Amino acid sequence: MTETSGTSGASIGLEGLTKRYPGSPRPAVDSVTLEIKAGETVVLVGPSGCGKSTTLKMINRLIEPTGGRIRINGEDVTDTDPVKLRRTVGYAVRSAGLFPHMTVAQNIALVPRMAGWGKARIEDRVEELLDLVGLDPGEFRGRYPGQLSGGQQQRVGVARALAADPPVLLMDEPFGALDPITRDRLQDELIRLQRELRKTIVFVTHDFDEAIKLGDRIAVLRERSHIAQFDTPEAILTNPADDFVSGFVGAGAALKRLNLTRVRDVEITGYPTVTVDDSLQEIFNRLRGSGTNEVLLLDRRGRPYKWLRRGDLMRAKGSLARAGTPVSDTVSRDATLRDALAAVLTDNAGRVAVTGRRGEYTGVVDMGTLMNSVHELLEADRVEAAAHQHEPEGIRAARTHAEQEAAGRGERKA
Ligand code: ADP
Repeated sequence: MTETSGTSGASIGLEGLTKRYPGSPRPAVDSVTLEIKAGETVVLVGPSGCGKSTTLKMINRLIEPTGGRIRINGEDVTDTDPVKLRRTVGYAVRSAGLFPHMTVAQNIALVPRMAGWGKARIEDRVEELLDLVGLDPGEFRGRYPGQLSGGQQQRVGVARALAADPPVLLMDEPFGALDPITRDRLQDELIRLQRELRKTIVFVTHDFDEAIKLGDRIAVLRERSHIAQFDTPEAILTNPADDFVSGFVGAGAALKRLNLTRVRDVEITGYPTVTVDDSLQEIFNRLRGSGTNEVLLLDRRGRPYKWLRRGDLMRAKGSLARAGTPVSDTVSRDATLRDALAAVLTDNAGRVAVTGRRGEYTGVVDMGTLMNSVHELLEADRVEAAAHQHEPEGIRAARTHAEQEAAGRGERKA
C-alpha cells in the first residue's frame, strides 16, 4: 500500500529475537529474524498464541527480549532507554486502551507531554491529529473515552500512537474488537493515512483477510513465532510455502472442500447428447438446436462414447466410425470434486462426463461448475462458521460432539 520513496518511516531489523518467560520450558518467541523496510506495512499473522503479540511488544521493549537484537534505522536499540525508544515507536492496541479518566485531548497529548513539548504546540498537534483520523476536534477534544463509540475510541487510539510523529507504528489487533463494518471502514482509513504518512507499520492480526488488505508484506507465523513465509500477499496467495500456510490462507479450505464434496452433491449441467443410432442428419439438427458446437455421442447403453464437434461431422463423410474424440475419462456421481477437477484439468476441452451406477451418462462437469460449487460451499462454510462463532462454548462443544457421533454412524449432514 506504499512506495518506499518519500517515507517518514524507519527500517526495523530483528535478529534472532527471543523471549523466554520464566517457568516456561520453551521460548514464547524463538529466534525471529525479520527485515522490515522503511515505509512498508508488515503484517504478522498467525494462530492465537503463536507469539505475534510478544514479538511486537519486544520491538518497543514493552516486553524485554531474552535474546537477539533490535535495530531501528540501523541503530541497535536493544539496550537503549525504553522510554526514549517509545518516542520513536507509536503503539496502538485492541480496544484503543485509552485512559478513561483523561479526555480525548489528554490521551492524545500523553507522549508529546512526556517529550516536553510546549502547551501551544501540543494543542495544535491534537487538533491536527483529530482531523487526520476523521474526528471533529471541536466536538471530540473534551470528551472522555466512555462517551465515544468503539470505532471513535480506536481512531483516538491511532491518533495517540501518531502523536509525536514516530517513524514506526506498532499495531496490536487494533480493530479486533470492532464490528465488521466499522473494522472495514477503519482499515480503509488506515490505508489512506498510510498513503499520506508513509510510516513503517508492524501490524498484528489473526485475520488473514485483514493481513491481505493492509500488508505490503505478510509474515505468516507458526508456533513460537517461527516464520512460515514472509512475502507479498500475492505471492503467499498464489504460492504458499507449505501446508501450514495454505491451510491458513484458506486455499487449503478450498482443497479440503474438494475432497469432502461428491459430484452428486453439486449441480451437474445437462449436455446435448445423441446416440449411435441417430442418423447424421438428426445429429446435425441436434447440434443446430442446442446452440453449441459440440454434442456427446452415447453408445447403445447410454454410456458416453465420443465428443463430436461440428467440424468432425463435416469430415465424417457419412460414417461416425472415425469421427470425433473418444471419451477418455469419466467420473461417477460418487467421485469427489477433487477427482472431477483432476479429470477436467487433463481434458483438452476442460470438461468431464458424469456417469451413473451402470456407467450411463448423467451430465457433464466443467471448470465453471466446479468453481461455482466450491465458491458456494466455501461461502456456506463461512456463514456457518460466523453463526457458530457467537455460540456459547458449551453448545459448540455439544454440537461438535453430536456431529462427530453422526459422522461415526455414517450419517451425512443435511
Ligand atoms: P499471540 O499474540 O500470537 O496470540 P502471544 O505473543 O500473546 O501470542 O503469546 C505467545 C505465547 O506466550 C503463548 O503461549 C502465551 O501463553 C505465552 N505468554 C504470553 N505472555 C506470557 C507471560 N506473561 N508469561 C508466560 N507466558 C506468556
